Amino acid sequence: MKLERPDDRGRFGEFGGRFAPETLIPALDELAEAFERSWSGDRFVGEYQRVLRDYVGRPTPLHEAGRLSERLGVRILLKREDLAHTGAHKINNAIGQVMLARDMGKPRVIAETGAGQHGVATATAAAYFGLKCDVYMGEVDIDRQALNVHRMGMLGARVSPVTSGAGTLKDAVSEAMRDWVRTVETTHYVIGSVVGPHPFPWMVREFQKVIGEEALEQLEGRLPDYVVACVGGGSNAIGIFYPFAGLGPQLIGVEAAGLGIESGQHGASIGAGTPGILHGTRTYLLQDDEGQVLEAHSISAGLDYPGVGPEHAFFAESGIARYESATDTEALAAMELLARTEGIIPALESAHAIAWIIREAEALAGRTVLVNLSGRGDKDVEQLARMTQ
Ligand SMILES: *Cc1c(COP(=O)(O)O)cnc(C)c1O
Repeated sequence: MKLERPDDRGRFGEFGGRFAPETLIPALDELAEAFERSWSGDRFVGEYQRVLRDYVGRPTPLHEAGRLSERLGVRILLKREDLAHTGAHKINNAIGQVMLARDMGKPRVIAETGAGQHGVATATAAAYFGLKCDVYMGEVDIDRQALNVHRMGMLGARVSPVTSGAGTLKDAVSEAMRDWVRTVETTHYVIGSVVGPHPFPWMVREFQKVIGEEALEQLEGRLPDYVVACVGGGSNAIGIFYPFAGLGPQLIGVEAAGLGIESGQHGASIGAGTPGILHGTRTYLLQDDEGQVLEAHSISAGLDYPGVGPEHAFFAESGIARYESATDTEALAAMELLARTEGIIPALESAHAIAWIIREAEALAGRTVLVNLSGRGDKDVEQLARMTQ
């Protein structure tokens, strides 16, 4: 059964918890308290819902993908997070956390970013509420996602390149955590997914569950057979899964298989990982026999992370959801098919969810599948254009 909240130690079953440096414990306690108080009060929740409606553009539409459904023989409904302000679901969480930072009296926020979507969302929320914003981004991702780097600059945020490790998302998280240890008095760290030490996985899920709650309402009681979402850290997936968990539909998370699971070049933390500790939480991760965390690989920067949210580890272990994967090549084909049948260019991340349906179309014949279209693909167009040159 799903857990409304983690236990006193911040755990979902044997996953989660708080494996953080001593200096961060008071800030994590302060955050947990502030979140708990705000989230159970009308003032904060009322303002949050107003901002989501009037600024972010919620509720996002539920779109019946007619031509794609006809092509695949599967009825496909798309939850259009790509139409949220800034182009992905990340803004739901960024707005909530920046509001909390403001209420805790912290004038500065920091964030890590992979595809740049969370950096853009945080820079946007910081501009809206008038806070200072610094974003850590791996230099490989800066190269892959130049457009988002310029967007963050325009929004008044400073982007700091991270050169350690492989220069991708994991390294950006590590660098943001180092900053936070130094600046915790004046700074809130806006984590972009359901990862990190307690209370982050729980809090970010609470800010993202609006996706599934809206979809449930839009379905007017007609439940789908499947709910499918791509899984990087797992925030868009938990956001749509959580309200459906226990109601009947099969929940399918799609991780990045990169160049293929056998190649070792992938981001399938649940599918091919083992339990361990990364960035303050116990979860499934990609590691070698000595516990060294391995580099993930995915064509999509947002799925290029060797860990996964602890609640997904719990969902996997307890059978609440199932986790599959799709390769870079399958995601590219899915992106093209969705563009040509529906006139929607999805983010490469979201294309992984569509790719799983394409592969399983025969087994899914006649069924209804709700897909979280986590973001739009504008950010990926330049990278794809370069690949085909
Ligand atoms: C960041 C991102 C993801 C991956 O993050 P999750 O926390 O797993 O949702 C997926 N899709 C898009 C469009 C993103 O920007």
